[in-house]
Amino acid sequence: MNEEKYLFVVSGPSGTGKDTVVHTLLEQHPELHKTVSATTRARRGEEQDGRDYHFLTVPQFEAQIAQEGLVEHACYCGNYYGTLKSEVEPFIQAGTPVILVIEVQGAGNIKRLYPGATTVFLMPPTMEELERRLRSRGTDSEQAIQNRLRRAEAEIALSADYDEHVVNDVVETCAAEIYDIIREKLAAPQ
Ligand code: 5GP
Repeated sequence: MNEEKYLFVVSGPSGTGKDTVVHTLLEQHPELHKTVSATTRARRGEEQDGRDYHFLTVPQFEAQIAQEGLVEHACYCGNYYGTLKSEVEPFIQAGTPVILVIEVQGAGNIKRLYPGATTVFLMPPTMEELERRLRSRGTDSEQAIQNRLRRAEAEIALSADYDEHVVNDVVETCAAEIYDIIREKLAAPQ
């Protein structure tokens, strides 16, 4: 369906810098809408309810599933994450490009539900660089870093089905490449 071409999914392993890249993309192109997901995980640091996530309890999240209020959801590290219908449908119906920053399982579900969506996987320049970025955060234990690196390898292996792969070497260049993908998709004949 025509509306589906307005859907863009961005995924990438933890430490790839996808949040920074998408933040830069939105700053440069405020006409794009980034969905605010629902999650049951605890709020971190400066995060605000309704801006960074809709923070829900497990019963609230399960009620959303039961009421079919989500277009996709997944369990990640023991917490629920999901995309609300209300964050997607009114926007694509109005012809506003929508960006979902979600993990690989959710991306697969979106592609099955909306085959016309475009999936973009962000790659670290090298695994060594990914490890360097994870260590430079200075917040994780050695065990957590090793877990994230193993998870990154598994996610990269699962990324073969994505429509596009973009390497995040320089943030601005990566954001510009994603914007080119969006522009080309919107300009393409149906
Ligand atoms: P974090 O807890 O670090 O904010 O997010 C953990 C993972 O969940 C990230 O890969 C993030 O992209 C993914 N995520 C965030 N929102 C959603 C969502 O609505 N659906 C799915 N499937 N994954 C999400």
